Order: sequence, then structure tokens, then C-alpha cells
Amino acid sequence: MDAYGKGGCALVAEADPWAREVLLGLLRGRCSRLIEADGLEEAMRSLGRQVPDLAVVAADLPGGAAVLAAALREPGRRVPLFLTGTAEDIRRVLETVSLPGVRVAQKPFDSAALGEAFDEALAGAALAGGLEEAWELARRLLDDMPQPAVILQGERVLAINRAWLRFLGLASMQEFKSRGFVLEQFLADPPPEEGLAAWACRLADDPLDRQHRLRLTHPDRPGQPPQVFQAAASRLPGAGRCLLTLADVTELELERRELLDLANLDPLTRALNRRKLSEVLDDEASRAARYGTPLSVVLLDIDHLKDINDTRGHDAGDAVLVELASRLRAGLRKVDRLARFGGEEFVVVAPGIDLARAAELAERLRLAVAGAPFAAAGRVTASFGLAQFVPPEAPEATLSRADQALYRAKAGGRNRVEPEASPPNAAG
Ligand code: GH3
Ligand code: MG
Ligand code: MG
Repeated sequence: MDAYGKGGCALVAEADPWAREVLLGLLRGRCSRLIEADGLEEAMRSLGRQVPDLAVVAADLPGGAAVLAAALREPGRRVPLFLTGTAEDIRRVLETVSLPGVRVAQKPFDSAALGEAFDEALAGAALAGGLEEAWELARRLLDDMPQPAVILQGERVLAINRAWLRFLGLASMQEFKSRGFVLEQFLADPPPEEGLAAWACRLADDPLDRQHRLRLTHPDRPGQPPQVFQAAASRLPGAGRCLLTLADVTELELERRELLDLANLDPLTRALNRRKLSEVLDDEASRAARYGTPLSVVLLDIDHLKDINDTRGHDAGDAVLVELASRLRAGLRKVDRLARFGGEEFVVVAPGIDLARAAELAERLRLAVAGAPFAAAGRVTASFGLAQFVPPEAPEATLSRADQALYRAKAGGRNRVEPEASPPNAAG
């Protein structure tokens, strides 16, 4: 059926031959198929064969106009409906059955007005049919996409394609709905504060086309590592409606991580390497200077590692370095960063704490090392030197004061914590 209804099908249920002929005459040029019925039974039979695009029902139809009208308005049918007859007959039908949006035409008919009303109803029906078709087409296209895709409107999920359902381990959109899932449940990270849908719509408007990642896991597979997706969104016609598409970049992400690790981490202990340490120190120093917050560094050196190497072998020495790094990490706060400074020296960058609190931290670390024997070497100890960053000095100057303190810790008998001798900011 085209936009003006040609090709549509109309049902005229009217017992009066004269009135029926007038109606058929008006519809003949507008619809390609006309069905006529002079009573309820015949009309219901025709309805079983074909649902019309428009129906004209006489309010005094033998057998009951109300019954036919109700049948035409069943869910899934919602046929545009004209009720014809005297005002009294029409009123009686409308008292029996609720017919929202019904159009009425009193006899005798005003042919011009009725013709126009038919055009309007058929165009509306064509539009609704066209929308349904377009929606079906969109769904098919979505399903054929290899990438997971979803259509969102506000907080509502309008459609999820097959690729996304497959990732979720679901057979259909119905299953998604009936199990009461929401997309946020599949996020490995806390959902965006504004909600996923609003986030996706904002993504669509992002003129910079930045890299947007989503990490997804299935709530039924808690132990599995999340899959990483690159997200892209575009707005669709309709308020708040957008298409969110994902591309699986899990492999790429792993490679990226490996490269980053290679560039930033010491391969033996997985502490930050020296290059990354100076980057972190520079960042933290400028942050501390800008916000006036304290920043401390802890420098530590394993005691007599040479002896361990000599007596137990270099591999045992390596194992000590690895275990030591993991003990240190376990004793740090989230914001602290551990770096391998050189052979058997490590640095802890401790933002937000002054020398006194850094001494507490270092003491905790000293005990973490000396408190229990190492698997490869038995008892191992380390010595610690501390210093607090004083802006606007270069962070190397802080490190150098921590190194002098460490030297004193060694000279003082090892397995001990020494703060810098006279902190330049001790007065303030
Ligand atoms: P102390 O610091 O207590 O003065 O004695 P030390 O024996 O630990 O210090 P020294 O500076 O004399 O020697 C450092 C030792 O650390 C010697 C070197 O072989 C060892 N070392 C450095 N890096 C590694 C490493 O990656 N693996 C192993 N196994 N040993 C290392
Ligand atoms: Mg040493
Ligand atoms: Mg050393």
C-alpha cells in the first residue's frame, strides 16, 4: 500500500444496499480491494481471511456492530474504524464498547467530507504499516551485523542484535526481558553515573571521536576475564534514541597492555622501571607543588644481597628480589607507587604524607621484609632512607637526600629506617 492508501483493503459492513453502494463508491478509487458484508457473521468470516486497512461499520449492523468493532480493535489489529448511522445508533454502540479514535459519519453522508476522512485514515494506516516495515528492516540489518549492537531510547533497550545476545549467552530479546536483565549488569566496571544510555547518547555527540572502551563480563561467569570493546554510538531519529555498537578489541587491548608493561615495568619484579619512576615522580612533584600537599619518598636497599648470591646462587638472589617486591606492594597504600631504582634498590613514591607518616610506612615495610623468612634465602632484611619533597626542588634532590639517609641506615647497622638528617622544611 502506498502513502495514499492505493493498494489497501477496506471492509464495508452495512446491511442497507443504498448506503453500502455510496460507501463502496467512495472507497473504490482509494483502495485496491473491497470487502462487503451485510451482517456480523459475514464480516467476521472475512476478518478471519484478511484484516483490512480500514473498516466502515454500520452502527445498526444486524448481529451487532459493537461485536465487530471490538474484533477490529483487538490488540495487534487496531484497524482504523468508521462508525456510520444515526446519531442515536452510533451513541448506542459507543456505550457498549470503548473505541478510542473511532471516526463517525452520520447518514445521510457528506461524500466530500467522508472521502477526505477516508484519505486521512488510509494515509495514517500506511504510515503505521511503513513504520512497522522499517522497524523490521532495521532489526534484520542489526542482526546481520557481526558486532554487538543495541538500540537504546532513554533507559529503555529497544533492540539487541544477535551478536550482543550471543555474547550474553541469551537466545532472544524476550529472554533478556523476561530475566529482567539491564545492560549495566554486564559492565565489568562501575556504570557511568549518568546511566549507560545517556552515556551512549553523549558519545554520539562527541565531536572528538575519542577512544571509548567498555569492559563487559557475564554475571553468570564471574571468574572470567572481561572482554574489552571499543564503543561507538550514533543518534537515531526519535527523541533520546541511539545506536550503540561495540567492536571486540580484547586482543588489541592485551597487546597494548603488554607493550605498556614492557615500557614501564621491570621484567623481574614488575615494579615500575627507572624511566617510569621519573615520570611518576615528576607528576607527583608538580601535583604536590600545585596543591600544597606533602610528598615523600622511601628509598630501600636489601642488606647483604651479595652474600645471598654468593652462598645460595644468583637465582636465589633473584627470587628474593621478586618476593621482596611483592611483600612491599602488599604493604603499600593504593596511591603509593613502587619502582625498582637499580640492582637491589627500590623506591616508594608516597603522595599525601609527610616525613613522620612516611617513617611509619617505612617501618611497616621493614617489618614486612624482616618479619618472616624468604622462601629462597631464609631471613632477609633491608635498610630504608626517607625524604620529603620540598618544592620547588627537582625530585632528584629529594631522592638524593633519601639516599644519604639510606647510607646512614646502612652505617648504623642495617635493617633500620632513617629519615633525612635535617629536612629543609623542618622549620615550617
Ligand atoms: P649492602 O647493601 O647491605 O651494603 O650489601 P649488598 O651486598 O646488598 O650490597 P652491594 O652493593 O655490595 O651489592 C649489591 C648486590 O646486589 C650485588 C649484586 O650482584 C646484587 N644484585 C643486584 N641486582 C641483582 C639482581 O637482579 N639479581 C641478583 N640475584 N642480584 C643482584
Ligand atoms: Mg644491598
Ligand atoms: Mg645497593
